[in-house]
Amino acid sequence: MSDTSAVESDCLFCKIVSGEIPGEIVHVTERTVAFRDINGQAPTHVLVVPRAHYPNAAALAAGDPEASAELVTAAAAVAAAEGHDDYRLVFNTGAGVGQTVFHTHLHLLAGRAMTWPPG
Ligand code: AMP
Repeated sequence: MSDTSAVESDCLFCKIVSGEIPGEIVHVTERTVAFRDINGQAPTHVLVVPRAHYPNAAALAAGDPEASAELVTAAAAVAAAEGHDDYRLVFNTGAGVGQTVFHTHLHLLAGRAMTWPPG
């Protein structure tokens, strides 16, 4: 089920999706919006978010599987558009692993060497 009307009034990324707060938007689809991370950690660091508000990746997958898949295909499209064959996709889930914005977002990082495991 796609619920693109679901908006949280106090959510930063809902406000970027709606245009209330500016974002450097690089890609849009029916269910997703992609914009540059304000504190980029790689030459390409883009956040891909569902238009609808879900607090984390698992909640999105349960509530709107099509949007969940679209996050990944949108990230791949952005990576390709920016010339990257190799890239890293990250969902942080929970403050304990660094999630700071509780609107699902897929980090797309590319354009530099990366180590594993991440810190
Ligand atoms: P996370 O720590 O996984 O919740 O990721 C949140 C990300 O949002 C961080 O990488 C921040 O740099 C980024 N961020 C915070 N505010 C903004 C903003 N206004 N525009 C773009 N990115 C932002």
